[in-house]
Amino acid sequence: MAIRTIYALTPDDPSLDPQGRPAPLSVSTDPDELAPIAKDAGALEGSGAAGLAVPSSEGQLARWLRDNPAAAVIVQGALTSLTGGATPSDDIVISTKKMTSLRVDPANLRAVVGAGLTLSELQAALADEDLYYPPAPTHDGASLGGNVATNAAGAATFKYGTTRDWVERLRIVLASGDVLELRRGQCVLEPSDRVRIEASVPIEFDVPSYESPALKKSSVGYYGKRPWDLIDLFIGSEGTLGIVTEIEVRLVPRPSVLTGLCFLHSVADTLALVTDLRQRSLAAWAAKTPGMDVRAIEYFDARCLQMLRNSGKLAEHGVDVPPGAVACLLFEQEIDKTLSHDEILERLAAVHEGKEAVEGIGELMAVLMAHEVVEHTELALPSDSRRKRQLAAIREAIPLDISDYLRAQHEKDKEIHKVAGDMIVPMDHFAHMLGRYDEVFRQHGVDVVIFGHISDGNVHPNGLPRQAADMPRAKQALWELAQEAKALGGCPLSEHGVGKHPWKKQMLSMYWGQGVIEEMKRIKRALDPKGRLGRGILWDP
Ligand SMILES: Cc1cc2nc3c(=O)[nH]c(=O)nc-3n(C[C@H](O)[C@H](O)[C@H](O)COP(=O)(O)OP(=O)(O)OC[C@H]3O[C@@H](n4cnc5c(N)ncnc54)[C@H](O)[C@@H]3O)c2cc1C
Repeated sequence: MAIRTIYALTPDDPSLDPQGRPAPLSVSTDPDELAPIAKDAGALEGSGAAGLAVPSSEGQLARWLRDNPAAAVIVQGALTSLTGGATPSDDIVISTKKMTSLRVDPANLRAVVGAGLTLSELQAALADEDLYYPPAPTHDGASLGGNVATNAAGAATFKYGTTRDWVERLRIVLASGDVLELRRGQCVLEPSDRVRIEASVPIEFDVPSYESPALKKSSVGYYGKRPWDLIDLFIGSEGTLGIVTEIEVRLVPRPSVLTGLCFLHSVADTLALVTDLRQRSLAAWAAKTPGMDVRAIEYFDARCLQMLRNSGKLAEHGVDVPPGAVACLLFEQEIDKTLSHDEILERLAAVHEGKEAVEGIGELMAVLMAHEVVEHTELALPSDSRRKRQLAAIREAIPLDISDYLRAQHEKDKEIHKVAGDMIVPMDHFAHMLGRYDEVFRQHGVDVVIFGHISDGNVHPNGLPRQAADMPRAKQALWELAQEAKALGGCPLSEHGVGKHPWKKQMLSMYWGQGVIEEMKRIKRALDPKGRLGRGILWDP
């Protein structure tokens, strides 16, 4: 067993306040300021915030944590969490909204970002430099700190992985107020090793002995892997081990992207097309040859289409659903940046007229022809940003339409709430599992709507309860599906995290068993002995 020692900065270190030392952090208890921060997008109720503190520098936050050792705190970024993970219950809310610094280093394809900067602010600044931050989760109003805390994933995780894959360096304020700076590769250890952090009170804990799921994405408590990098412990720890203040991320040159919307007439046809697009892209990436480069495929089932039709979103965005369509795929293909609009059209037309496909755009047309879906597919070219935004808006409208439905049901019956799954299974089992999402909810007599990141094998079955009596049945359906996903080598918690959600906590326990949960709790106790950070997140206090 080796012990690796790393050193933290004290809260008084002058480097923590680059703009000069600000006044001590103040805590507002004004009810008008506390009301809007009482819950996150998961709409899980808490008992409200005890106060609101908005630090403007790392040093200000660090000294406040040191000087108020009894205060329980919860971090808030942009409050887009779907799990109650940012919902306070008598905690003081630490908001990162003033931590919005940004330094872009185009030569080295890096950006150093304050935790409170939103994804949309980052992407807008990067667009000016023709750069892009790839793990772009669907909600671009989320903060980068929130993305790190939840290891957020996005539609393009199929090509680019999750937030974890793009984080090179973090600065974190620990519960004691001591500050850690961690660079990827700086502290890489084996499961039998031990970490020692020299801080105001030394901290020691064992490297996790368990391994996190070997899936495209998962969000099931503290990360374990062999070898294990200390930076990864904090990514996905949902604000329970420290407060992320600054993040250094890797970037890529901004790709040119074509968006496709394709309607299909059977689930089997849908799955066959997904398989073809995925496998050809994986083969081209493995061979490092120009070819199919589909980075994301999103799925909506027939019920989604019905909801979008009823809410008027299809008409609003000028989308016609062909008669008999039972599913829809929204995909994004990266293409050669140097091609003009007309050149792209020429390449598509050439293959449509019978010429052989020699590169990615032609191959896409060949695949659409082979699957006999050309007539039911709309392609928005890279230069047509207005149409691309409209097609993306269709995808974004689905969770909003589901929320509207549930809000209306909740008004009628207060027992009715959201019942949504976030399972991922290995692609070999995805076709089976997609059928099971539908079948199991129906066996329990509850309607279901299914959408999500089909290119990763991660879709979100959402129960649509009509009455209070449907709630326990919908929960039972979700529980059975969570167990089945695990049995197939998948994971019931893929991208949204656990937060304070009671069923997700049960799924976390079911996934790991008590031994691993105890290991995670030992790490938590070492880093946060008083349990003051994110009380009630991951497990009950
Ligand atoms: C319509 C919609 C679509 C979504 N789509 C996706 C998706 O495609 N993929 C996905 O992964 N998620 C998705 N989400 C969920 C959500 O956007 C992500 O979990 C996001 O990462 C949360 O970021 P935030 O800034 O809003 O964090 P918050 O909601 O404020 O907080 C989330 C958690 O992170 C902690 N936290 C926040 N900031 C910090 C920090 N600086 N240091 C330590 N802990 C911190 C909080 O305490 C909390 O536990 C979606 C949400 C909505 C509403």
